[in-house]
Amino acid sequence: MPEIGVIGGSGLYSLLDDAVEIPGDHAFGPPSGSLTIGSVDDIEVAFLPRHGPGHRFPAHKVNYRANLWALRQVGVKAIFGPSACGSLRAELAPGHVVVCDQLVDRTSGRADTYFDTVTNHVSLADPYCDELRQALLDAARAEGMTTHDGGTMTVISGPRFSTRAESRWFRDNGWDVVGMTQYPEAALAAELGICYATAALVTDYDVGLEDDPNITPVTQDEVFAFFAQNLERMRAVLFGAIRAVAGNLPDCSDRANGIDPPLPSDADSR
Ligand SMILES: [Zn+2]
Repeated sequence: MPEIGVIGGSGLYSLLDDAVEIPGDHAFGPPSGSLTIGSVDDIEVAFLPRHGPGHRFPAHKVNYRANLWALRQVGVKAIFGPSACGSLRAELAPGHVVVCDQLVDRTSGRADTYFDTVTNHVSLADPYCDELRQALLDAARAEGMTTHDGGTMTVISGPRFSTRAESRWFRDNGWDVVGMTQYPEAALAAELGICYATAALVTDYDVGLEDDPNITPVTQDEVFAFFAQNLERMRAVLFGAIRAVAGNLPDCSDRANGIDPPLPSDADSR
């Protein structure tokens, strides 16, 4: 059983060459795409494309609960969830990696908990696993990428990008990058007691930089193209991080308070 999982972001639709598709557990609906299991060296790794094949599900339509559940049901205890992000600060430049340590949820209307019928208040004070973060930091630096230790991800609903006023407000609040998927992904991992961390690849400057009129607001094509250009490096970062934690897996299981989520079918029958 694979103990390490990867949820691939925009552009990362497959990870492992020897991957074998396995039927997932669909208790919370079908995940975005096929769950595959492959290996890095001799380490078994489970993989899911967050947005499905061909980016079928935009961020606000991803069934995050189904994705995390499918990984848990094959035994995954630690998840790397790389993502693309826009930068709110000049010093976080496109091509840099931000290993976030905080997030702010600005989404709405997403199914963001497994605990609708059983009470379980998990702590999300620290949404990211320290050990997984360290593994990503080390791997990104080893890959020669400019890497930032910590940063706050502003998670917006999308699919639209931010207005200039929103982007300025995010920055003025002290937040660093903006993306669309870290919430509820990180929160659901906490509810399942699964270690979770992201390496956020900066693809753009969101609406631009106010003191540089030459930097124009981000477009969808730019994000996808930039991520594609950096795909092999991000893959190398993930492989490095996987090798670093395999055999000495961190444990965030106590975050779930020892309470298993009720299955939707259980709730229906009550
Ligand atoms: Zn952990």
